Amino acid sequence: MNPFTYHRATNPSDAIADHNRVNGAKFIGGGTNLIDLMKENVEHPSRLVDLNHVGLREVSDREGVLKIGALVTNNEAAYHPLIEKDFPLLSEAILAGASPQLRNMATCGGNLLQRTRCYYFYDTATACNKREPGSGCDALKGYNRIHAVLGASDKCIATHPSDMCVALAALDTTILAEGTKGVRKIAFADFHRLPGDTPEKDTNLAEDEMITGLELRARFSRQFKYLKVRDRSSYAFALVSAAVGLESENGVIKKAAVAMGGVAHKPWRDFEAEKTLHGEKPSEEVFKKFATSFFKGAAGYGHNDFKIELGQRTLVRALSEAAAKGVWL
Ligand SMILES: Cc1cc2nc3c(=O)[nH]c(=O)nc-3n(C[C@H](O)[C@H](O)[C@H](O)COP(=O)(O)OP(=O)(O)OC[C@H]3O[C@@H](n4cnc5c(N)ncnc54)[C@H](O)[C@@H]3O)c2cc1C
Ligand code: SF4
Repeated sequence: MNPFTYHRATNPSDAIADHNRVNGAKFIGGGTNLIDLMKENVEHPSRLVDLNHVGLREVSDREGVLKIGALVTNNEAAYHPLIEKDFPLLSEAILAGASPQLRNMATCGGNLLQRTRCYYFYDTATACNKREPGSGCDALKGYNRIHAVLGASDKCIATHPSDMCVALAALDTTILAEGTKGVRKIAFADFHRLPGDTPEKDTNLAEDEMITGLELRARFSRQFKYLKVRDRSSYAFALVSAAVGLESENGVIKKAAVAMGGVAHKPWRDFEAEKTLHGEKPSEEVFKKFATSFFKGAAGYGHNDFKIELGQRTLVRALSEAAAKGVWL
């Protein structure tokens, strides 16, 4: 491990100022991803700015907006009464991830910025454009079972590993960021990036910015489903996952929000395909048509070809289970 200095920040302004004073400084929340990456020699921050004493631990629901502070832990969010009651899709997704011990440490801000689980990214003996820009991508022709089938590039085919973020994508979340130029709101769809020619950049958060919180508006408190398909039934990242929220009126779908994890460099949502569900009576046929359209343009890289059919089946099942919670008179 490389040497680094440490600062325990006392409030967000102190954290941002200290982070921007030192070249190569990084914020640290629960440390459940960053410390692993430091041990593996993938990340080498010169300074750690500890956010655990800056506050930002509140969950509130005012004027139709649920606000979650960046330092709220994953378990605090999942079991918070306001979230369990009105945003159960978010609870379900968070609880599908990691283990209770990890979720007690992991913060909501850190979860958004956790890095890919691509094996080559963690192995410094291999070529990886995300870890070392310009070095190549050993996953393209290597063992790519967990990799992307949508939105990938010839520079990187990694997937985003978070469960929580798939639900946040379906729930029309806004991310609150603060930096040297002030406060900024970023729509969730614009937060994570596709790899393109710069896979080293996972998100559009600026170098000087810290995440301070999240705002959620869509609720889907009755008809929802987070379905995670993985190699073992606990303590494993998703091969594919789907977050579904539905609202119905007069026996037809009035509103649908569908996001997928494990298929792309960011949680994947297809707003055009979603519109085709509006006004439809829920049925397997309607959901299959939607799933086909969702995966249009998908391409596998050999070991992960199975994800295209698996993803479509996952969507149909998640939509059917969410629909089954409704009353369709
Ligand atoms: C064994 C294991 C299994 C796991 N399984 C799953 C799983 O099944 N599903 C799943 O979704 N996740 C899983 N995870 C990942 C886990 O959810 C993440 O590691 C965690 O959410 C990261 O949060 P953290 O607070 O610990 O982040 P940290 O490790 O503290 O930070 C992660 C990154 O975010 C930055 N950062 C942190 N907070 C802020 C902030 N407020 N503003 C700006 N930058 C910030 C840090 O600089 C760092 O780059 C697993 C992790 C492990 C170790
Ligand atoms: S897929 Fe991306 S993260 Fe994995 S080796 Fe290729 S460039 Fe690196």
